[in-house]
Amino acid sequence: MSPDTVACPACDLLQHIPPIPPGGKACCPRCDETLGSRSTDPLDRPLALTLAAAIVFIVANTAPLMGLSVVGRSASTTISQGAYEMWMQGERITAVIVAFSAIIAPGGYILFMLTVLLAVRWPPAPHWVGEMLRWADHMQPWSMNEVMLLGILVALIKIAELATVDPGVGLYAVGALVMLLAAIMATFDQREVWKRVEWADGRVPS
Ligand SMILES: [Zn+2]
Repeated sequence: MSPDTVACPACDLLQHIPPIPPGGKACCPRCDETLGSRSTDPLDRPLALTLAAAIVFIVANTAPLMGLSVVGRSASTTISQGAYEMWMQGERITAVIVAFSAIIAPGGYILFMLTVLLAVRWPPAPHWVGEMLRWADHMQPWSMNEVMLLGILVALIKIAELATVDPGVGLYAVGALVMLLAAIMATFDQREVWKRVEWADGRVPS
């Protein structure tokens, strides 16, 4: 069986995928499921987006998310301070979930993607790049900034009735991060990475 032979994930039909031109896609002849697509710029564009995401991620985690002021008293907080406060007030499970899905998972995803995308620029990339790509895959579903953003907006509207709320730079950064993470996933093509990674037995990809 040639390495280009794939089983359709929807209907299991075995078929050969011809080389796909940039910007093109291959569909299953039986059920029309998309079997593969090739982005016009599968590595450089995700790298640029990942670099931007790394910067925005740092801003989102260091700049205040929002400021509150009630009768002359004011306070502001960042994501990590929020998680820390929750931990200190005994909401430990919530604190861990917030820290994982808002800081660790997106941070890990950005870090792994950055390493992978930089390493494949000089093929053949060492075998651990493949392992790192798998880690990025594990992190991706846990990176729930959009859920967090929605939660913050709901909380903002609720709190706005009681206090003056000033959205902070961090909040805009989280919004930008949500967009950037989606853009990375849309433009990145894993197969382009696998094509450049050294095989398990040390063979160099052709
Ligand atoms: Zn099919």
